[in-house]
Amino acid sequence: MGRDLLREIPGVAIPTDLPRHMYIGGRQVDAISGDRIETVDPATGQVFADVPSATIADVDAAVDNSRSALRGPWRDTLPVERGRILHRTAQLIRRDAERLAIIETLDSGKPLTESRGDVATAAAYFEYYAGIADKLQGDSIPLGTAYMSFTLHEPVGVTAHIIPWNFPLVTTARGVAPALAAGNTVVVKPASQTPLTALALADLLIEAGLPAGVYNALTGRGGVIGDALSGHRGVDHVTFTGSVPTGINVMKVAAERVTSVTLELGGKSPVVVLADADLDAAVEGTLKAIYMNAGQVCSAGSRLVIDRKVHASMLDRLVARARQLSIGHGLSDPKLGPLISDTHRRTVASYVDGARARGITVATGGEPVDVAGFEGGYFYAPTILDAVHAQDRVVQEEIFGPVLVVQVVESAEEALAVANGTPFGLCAGIYTRDVTRALRFARDVDAGQVFINQYFAGGVPTPFGGTKLSGFGREKGLAALAAYYQVKCITARI
Ligand code: NAP
Repeated sequence: MGRDLLREIPGVAIPTDLPRHMYIGGRQVDAISGDRIETVDPATGQVFADVPSATIADVDAAVDNSRSALRGPWRDTLPVERGRILHRTAQLIRRDAERLAIIETLDSGKPLTESRGDVATAAAYFEYYAGIADKLQGDSIPLGTAYMSFTLHEPVGVTAHIIPWNFPLVTTARGVAPALAAGNTVVVKPASQTPLTALALADLLIEAGLPAGVYNALTGRGGVIGDALSGHRGVDHVTFTGSVPTGINVMKVAAERVTSVTLELGGKSPVVVLADADLDAAVEGTLKAIYMNAGQVCSAGSRLVIDRKVHASMLDRLVARARQLSIGHGLSDPKLGPLISDTHRRTVASYVDGARARGITVATGGEPVDVAGFEGGYFYAPTILDAVHAQDRVVQEEIFGPVLVVQVVESAEEALAVANGTPFGLCAGIYTRDVTRALRFARDVDAGQVFINQYFAGGVPTPFGGTKLSGFGREKGLAALAAYYQVKCITARI
């Protein structure tokens, strides 16, 4: 039923040529086993595509090809030419933007406007790192007249990129673009639920002139091929984005070969609203912070930490606005699409049901939603849990759904303590007209990124990453490059 309705959405042409193959050594390939994984449209619950199901033999082939490419023409490609290839990739992503956005929405469920934004950001990553490819230069070290000493920035080697399902293309671009800019080769493993755009990107990179084997894309279940990839003797760095338990496992497996890792893990980021805040901006910012991608965002502002003096008025406004948010198939471009799977929706629902059972006020939402024509979809209502105790499970654990948890405080000092009161430290926001308070909060809060008076401010050039259980290493901006080159120091007696 849902599929028929989709064909009627004006202005949306569903691609018939969906990606079907992995890319190894510049060629489209199937898994050696011949097995395939089905991918489901989360707004209909129906299978709409399938991709190869890689096993360990495919991992070996991808890593071996990636290593060969490292020693092949890529090594001799001038840095300025690497930059041109990345720049052309950005242009090709923009040429195919609508196709990529529609595929991303079908695969992940996110509203089309958000997918279009993701595609634009993916292009921006390639453009941003294109400009640095020929500017990664070392230092000279003054040791006196008897020596000459200098450093080289060399590629790390083969980099593996393990991608989650919530931002498939944009997370791929975030790691791949700086890795290629610095002269590395890559093996990408997208999430099994959203494999398609990492495969579509391979076509564009090849069209842009990337030599064969420099970008390899493996589709396969993490439980089957994850350890083989993270612990592979031919992999020199693993960039992992995903859940805390899987990240810990990746780190342990990589440690066996002393392979470096970047871990971008979960979050429970606070949005602090002080009594002097511009409440209009705070309401808009909080809605975006928690309901973008139906709350399935590692950096979501999932806790509203609010001064008691403005709690009631802000809550009323948030509840009214949350009830108005449209919910539907991502291609009809609502404010909220479905959650990624029925299993995930059950997890989200169990957090909310548990909170309700413990006596926590469900100010709005708190239940699955049926969307007419899309009864098989995994929709869940925008939800607000009010006045929650600091040690409650819904404060301490990442729900990863459209569930805002409100914590009421009496002062800016208490707001900071509450903001820091979880095991996570990814992002933090603050709304206040007092610049000094905002900057003190920014200085003292446990977070890798802090937003003042606009949640999600920043973008491709602003370094991003976590502290505490949210991980370590930085992506985005120039800071991301540090993971993708190693410094070699050469000293000559002259
Ligand atoms: P996940 O289950 O950890 O999966 C992430 C990726 O790891 C997928 O590609 C998955 O493959 C793969 N994987 C599974 N088992 C593996 C193993 N043993 N070794 C190596 N890789 C393995 O996380 P998720 O549920 O997809 O994503 C949601 C979580 O990611 C949330 O906690 C969220 O906060 C976090 N996240 C963080 C960021 C950030 O930048 N900090 C961004 C987005 C998401 P399969 O799909 O095949 O299982």
